[in-house]
Amino acid sequence: MTRAESQYLARVARLGCACCTLLGIGEPDTPVEIHHVREGQGMSQRAQHWLGVPLCIACHRGPRGIHGDRSILRQLKCDEMDLLS
Ligand SMILES: [Zn+2]
Ligand SMILES: [Zn+2]
Repeated sequence: MTRAESQYLARVARLGCACCTLLGIGEPDTPVEIHHVREGQGMSQRAQHWLGVPLCIACHRGPRGIHGDRSILRQLKCDEMDLLS
């Protein structure tokens, strides 16, 4: 990862969880993990660093999260690309 990319990801991480923010339950101090959107195959590995979405542990790896049954996305009526924007 380049220096610019890590700075970008650090800034993204400070935004807080994208799902919780949309739900209006986001807490600014909640630790987030960066989920890398894998939609749009054919992109280089490097480009995927710029497709990081900040998600709290529950929204990322929890049972309802993006690696779980993804019901959090259905509740928000959006997909990973919406979170990114
Ligand atoms: Zn969350
Ligand atoms: Zn992920």
